[in-house]
Amino acid sequence: MRKPIIAGNWKMYKLLGESIETALALKSLVANTNHCEIIIAPVFTALKTVCDRLEGSNIKVAAQNCSTEQKHGAHTGEVSAEMIKDVGASHIIIGHSERRQFYGETNESVNLKTKACLLFDLTAIVCIGEMLAEREAGNAENVVKSQLIGALEGLTVTDMKRIIIAYEPVWAIGTGKTATPEQAQEMHAFIRQTLSEMNGKEVSETIRILYGGSVKPDNIESLMKQTDIDGALVGGASLEAESFSKIVNYK
Ligand code: PEP
Repeated sequence: MRKPIIAGNWKMYKLLGESIETALALKSLVANTNHCEIIIAPVFTALKTVCDRLEGSNIKVAAQNCSTEQKHGAHTGEVSAEMIKDVGASHIIIGHSERRQFYGETNESVNLKTKACLLFDLTAIVCIGEMLAEREAGNAENVVKSQLIGALEGLTVTDMKRIIIAYEPVWAIGTGKTATPEQAQEMHAFIRQTLSEMNGKEVSETIRILYGGSVKPDNIESLMKQTDIDGALVGGASLEAESFSKIVNYK
């Protein structure tokens, strides 16, 4: 049984005070939830405070990015996986499409960042997903497969069991245009099949694959009914504690 995960990506939206306020409101709204793992990803400047305020709760905290560098040194502006671990976070979102599109993230950097997470015993939430033009050209599966192979290159079977995949079709992120549950299921099944070819069936059956792209309280239930959808990575609808708690408590 794969325990579902509902993760919220707060992107670059909240100041420190707003992050604390939303985190504490969410904490009380989901205090009795245990059917899924709950993760929120605040900005770096709020990471430690949010981790401290949520200590002992059922909400885990993720960073939204980390450095490709594993060793500390002269890397101005970078934050290492170890530093993220040091302030109490347990997960890192790696390779989000906004980083791939606007900040030069590549399959190679995603791979290095994933390895940095593993080295410091953090869980990488590795994001993959095709652009609209790639889907329209019939290339969605090829793109997703090469992102997957690139991101996970060199990982052992044990490593693979410690990561999470988030399938986020770029055309569905922040657009209000969700993939239908059938479209999402089809790609999730393809991802699981690819993982099975890469590392065997047992691993592929263990890995959780989240869907991301305009997930809202009114579409989460139908997405979660799909066999290969193990949770959601939520952007916009995670910014308000009330709407995110409705997604968390989808059943
Ligand atoms: C995201 O940022 O990962 C995301 C899925 O955003 P949204 O839910 O707003 O589409």
